[in-house]
Amino acid sequence: MKNSSKLTRGQFVQRAIVLPALAGLLYSVEAAPARAAKGSQAQYKYQSKPNGIKKCSNCTFYIAGKTPTANGSCKIVDGTISPNGYCIAYSPKSS
Ligand code: SF4
Repeated sequence: MKNSSKLTRGQFVQRAIVLPALAGLLYSVEAAPARAAKGSQAQYKYQSKPNGIKKCSNCTFYIAGKTPTANGSCKIVDGTISPNGYCIAYSPKSS
């Protein structure tokens, strides 16, 4: 009598290769919208000048460039972002 619930060695190896590949594929499909969630500079009314004391370099979403005066990027607005820029999504860093 054959026990059908046991995997052959070949079936085990096949599943050991295929299942992680499927998991990786599903993860990349799920993560894709998060990466594409940035809005355009026009959408956020980005400007390269500060709005009073409000500027990108003291915004919680700013990702600094290589130096304090170099352009950086933003977690929610697409494109190159000046440390002296500003947009309507400005949110001051908590101190
Ligand atoms: S959210 Fe706006 S103000 Fe803040 S870093 Fe991004 S572009 Fe600058």
